[in-house]
Amino acid sequence: MRILIVEDEKKVSGFIKKGLEEETYAVDVAIDGEEGLLFGEQNQYDLIILDLMLPKIDGLEVLSILRDRKIETPILLLTAKDSVEDKVAGLNKGADDYLTKPFAFSELLARIRVLLRRGKIEARTTLEIAGLTLDLVSHKVKREDHEIELTGKEYSLLEYFLRNQGKVLTRTMIAEHVWDYNFDTFTNVIDVYVNHLRKKIDKNYSQKLLHTLRGVGYIMKE
Ligand code: CA
Repeated sequence: MRILIVEDEKKVSGFIKKGLEEETYAVDVAIDGEEGLLFGEQNQYDLIILDLMLPKIDGLEVLSILRDRKIETPILLLTAKDSVEDKVAGLNKGADDYLTKPFAFSELLARIRVLLRRGKIEARTTLEIAGLTLDLVSHKVKREDHEIELTGKEYSLLEYFLRNQGKVLTRTMIAEHVWDYNFDTFTNVIDVYVNHLRKKIDKNYSQKLLHTLRGVGYIMKE
């Protein structure tokens, strides 16, 4: 899951980024409205956290431009003002939720989880394929009751595969959803991580779940 934070206050963006990275999300930070718009249009995010008071282009304007350009990514507004008009204006322009500063990180995280689940058939807390399960709350991964220890990146990678079972995922798609903006797609880092993950989830089992499609990418299927 890849998240964009558009926030000019470094203290706030730093605090959110650090917390989200600990939760294994890939995070980019844009420091003003102009950069936020650029990042939001160029990359495929799973969620955008958008501050309202921003230099260059304000948050409400960024929001309406993104929605005008048919970018439907869930957007969570951050606002220092708690005036009702701002919240209503934001929601009317297509924001999905808002949070008034200052807020506790745990509250932000809870709302992010809700937004990321929205649109799915049920509010799932586990992802599963053929006896391999990933618990989105506790971050525990098991295959047939054996617990599997994964690093943060391996976990994010597995979550992305599990959410897209049966779909071919190219290296570019994987890079865009699991790594952040500083990632160099020309390196073979993705293959290295996929191989580590495969060793942990598939090596000791006759049924393989993570398959390589030579020259194309990867697919997770039974
Ligand atoms: Ca601000």
